[in-house]
Order: sequence, then C-alpha cells, then structure tokens
Amino acid sequence: MNDSIDFDPRNYQPTAAALEGRTILITGAGSGIGRAVALACAAARANVVLVGRTLRKLEAVHAEISARDSGTATIAQLDLERAIAKDYDTLAAAVLARFGRLDGLLHNAALLGNLSAIADYDVPLFTRVMHVNVTAAFALTQVLLPALKKSPDARVLFTSSSVGRRGRAYWGAYAVSKFAIEGLSQTLAHELGGSTKITVNTINPGATRTAMRRQAYPAEDLEKLPLPESITAPYLALLGPVSRGVTGGAFDAQRT
Ligand code: NAP
Repeated sequence: MNDSIDFDPRNYQPTAAALEGRTILITGAGSGIGRAVALACAAARANVVLVGRTLRKLEAVHAEISARDSGTATIAQLDLERAIAKDYDTLAAAVLARFGRLDGLLHNAALLGNLSAIADYDVPLFTRVMHVNVTAAFALTQVLLPALKKSPDARVLFTSSSVGRRGRAYWGAYAVSKFAIEGLSQTLAHELGGSTKITVNTINPGATRTAMRRQAYPAEDLEKLPLPESITAPYLALLGPVSRGVTGGAFDAQRT
C-alpha cells in the first residue's frame, strides 16, 4: 500500500534495545516460532504478553524471559478454539490496565488440520481450522484495536504461509485460512491507512523446524531446516519502529 515495496525485513539486524518501551502481544507464544519471537522481543527490551492455550508452555517461556536481563513477560492463557466474547474482553481490559496501550500484535497461533483433498476434507475440521486461524485472529484484533490506537506507532502482524499466497493441492482448510489472513490483513491495512499510525502486514516464516512442520512433512529431515530462533529478525522489523509507514504488505522471513 505504501512504502512496503522497498522494505525488506530480512535485511534487518535488531539492536539490543530495538523494542524498548513497547508492549507486544504474541499468540501461540508457548512453542515453535511464537516462543522464539517472544524471546527475541523480550531480548530487545519489549514487554511481551504471552498468549496460548497450554499454560505450562507459557510458564516455561515466562521463566526463560524472567531469568534474563531483558523486557518483561506476562501470561494470558487463551484457547482460541473455545474462547468466547467475555474472554477476549477480559484480555483486552487486562492489557489496557497493565500497560495502557498495545504497540504490537503478532497473530502466530494456528492449526494445521489435515492434509487431504478438498473432495474428502472433513467439514467439522475445516470449521475448526478456519475458526482458530481466521475468526479468532479477527476477533482478537477487533477487541485490541482500542489499545492499539492508544499507541503512537502500533503494528499488527499476521502469520501467513506459502500456501496462503498460491494454492496447493491437499493443503485444504489451512491454505484457505492463510489466504483469508492475507485478505483480512489487506482489508484492515486499507481501513486504518489514512486515519491511524497502525501498520498491518503479513509474514510467511518459510520452512522452519517446528512441531507443525513435522506434522505436515513427517518424512522430512527436520535437522536440515532453520530453527525458529534464526528467523526472528524480520518479525522484529515488522513489529518495531523500523517499519513505520510500511503497511498492506506481504513479507517473507526467509530467502528462498
Ligand atoms: P507450532 O510449533 O505448532 O506452534 C503453533 C502454536 O499455535 C502453538 O504454540 C500452539 O499452542 C498454538 N495454538 C494452536 N491452537 C491454538 C489454540 N486453539 N489456542 C491458542 N493457541 C493455539 O507451529 P509453528 O510452526 O511455530 O507455527 C507458527 C505459525 O507459523 C503458524 O501460523 C503457522 O501456520 C506458520 N507457519 C509455519 C511454518 C513452518 O514451517 N513451521 C511455515 C509456514 C507458516 P500449543 O503449543 O499449546 O498447542
């Protein structure tokens, strides 16, 4: 939309205090890419709100952050499959009460669902994947917009995938949900473009060594893939001040 054409978050090298003073909420922060980005944000001195469904995983990330000389961490347990309006309202109220505003929102949590043909795809599973990957991200964004608007320079970052940019056989609801995320991101970026400083973008992490990747490619040698820790810099670029004015874009965390 503007400035996004020349911006490449893969060139970014965060400084030690790149996110100083910023509060950033990350979904799916207990494992995989979400955990790595949460640790990297805290290392860059952000206050991180760790959202996820499994409390013990969030507590482990919280402990890692607390043990370091870095930003702070706060846990907010939320199952995006089961959360109702009251749960979203409670989370938004807690963020405002504790921090007074929100400077970054990373939608990272997702369900893979099944890899199967559209002809055979289980309808209830399709609904679950769409709910976690799209509807919950929409609802969380909507309820947190007032807190984002209180920031002088906020970021919303949605997580996409290569199959959310070009369809591929057998990726079913997951691919459809990632296309929907691209649409949600562009629509919100356009709506907010003229009236606020909030930027809205998507990032495709690319093949990364996580539990979801193992589930999608059980026969693959995971050791050959980059660790989540090695792809965090582009996330920090799109969550931090360096991406001011960059909105409506679709970015990659890795070079292919
Ligand atoms: P992961 O390790 O499986 O992490 C997924 C995260 O989502 C987990 O923390 C999980 O929490 C959370 N989550 C799932 N269902 C949830 C729910 N109902 N409520 C709250 N949290 C929920 O996978 P990942 O690879 O790091 O994936 C992170 C993002 O990158 C996803 O959006 C994925 O689509 C995207 N992506 C990954 C790759 C790759 O190669 N890894 C490639 C392209 C895109 P629990 O741990 O508690 O289950």
